[in-house]
Amino acid sequence: MRVLAGFATDIGRVRQGNEDCFLAESPLFAVADGMGGHRGGEVASHLALDTVEAMHLRGEGTLADQVREANRVVYLRSSEDRKVAGMGTTLTAALVDGDGLHLAHVGDSRAYLLRAGSLRQLTDDHTLVNRMVKAGEITREEATVHPHRNVVTRALGTEPEIPVDEQSVALLEGDRILLCTDGLTGMVTEDQIQAIMESTDDPQESADRLIRAANRAGGIDNITAVVLDVREGSDEGTEAGTVSANPRSAVAAIPKRGSLRKAGVTLLVSVAVLTLTALGLRIYVHSQWYVGVSSDGYVAVFQGVPATPLGIHLSTLQTEYKDLLGADVASFDLYKSLPNGITANSRADAEAIVTQMRADVVTQRAIKGGPSPTATPSAGAVP
Ligand code: CA
Repeated sequence: MRVLAGFATDIGRVRQGNEDCFLAESPLFAVADGMGGHRGGEVASHLALDTVEAMHLRGEGTLADQVREANRVVYLRSSEDRKVAGMGTTLTAALVDGDGLHLAHVGDSRAYLLRAGSLRQLTDDHTLVNRMVKAGEITREEATVHPHRNVVTRALGTEPEIPVDEQSVALLEGDRILLCTDGLTGMVTEDQIQAIMESTDDPQESADRLIRAANRAGGIDNITAVVLDVREGSDEGTEAGTVSANPRSAVAAIPKRGSLRKAGVTLLVSVAVLTLTALGLRIYVHSQWYVGVSSDGYVAVFQGVPATPLGIHLSTLQTEYKDLLGADVASFDLYKSLPNGITANSRADAEAIVTQMRADVVTQRAIKGGPSPTATPSAGAVP
């Protein structure tokens, strides 16, 4: 049995940096989705995969041991370096071992198995909404648009020790494995993912098509996909990479913008964490910025999280855009979750989302030949 791999990562259409990272060093494959601002997110995901890869090459420990060590390394760096304090990352790793696949997983990136015409998620999302689904409080469909969907309950680097999910799968010829970050699954449905994976026999083409589909759907987040095809052949024939690209994410320009976090907001976010911890949840706030709607109905950038556990507001309005009515923007399918808050990793990301919204609104007005009936009072710019 041999494995052919295809892999791709993309910054998406909105973000200013790529905090995703992947590893494709057969027989070891992994994806990681960093969080905690541009610098921190990128450092966390790369550091985690570097640690796993180095231990693997030295033959140290099991895959789960390697992920636990990656957690300690990211946690230490986060504690020692103020520039990246509070960073974290997801990590979903797969090791091909003969006819089996070992998985180790933390966070909300995913591993899927496509076998005999059905796509099955192998990993469990460590998210607040997944807990709510399991508790029967919301449906899986509701989870995909829930305002808390970006709150992860477990991430590497946030605590000195974390539990790592482990499992093994017996591989069959014809199986396909997908490792991906939420920039794919947040934009493309599982039915679409399956259709795309079935549309080509080439794992690289498959990975590329998945990225394109996520970008066509809006590309709001960084997108990463690693596709493994299990083919007939000798045991030792495990081979990877139908592409000669750098096996890590392209390093994008890192914005110079610092993180000017106001004490009050830090306090509010701490209150959120404490409140949710008091509810028995070990919470890690995935994102501290979002685009939403102000009380006056305009698009606005908020710092904090779009959640109100126990009725406590966890965010503060930073910038209100009086040329953009929330209702106008939310009428676009892409932005229909605006009233619940579209999360971003930084202020710059949030502002970039607003810029894209404005461009989309202006384009639509131009197509319609003039201001739409619900045109904003102060928006005079019609091309
Ligand atoms: Ca992500």
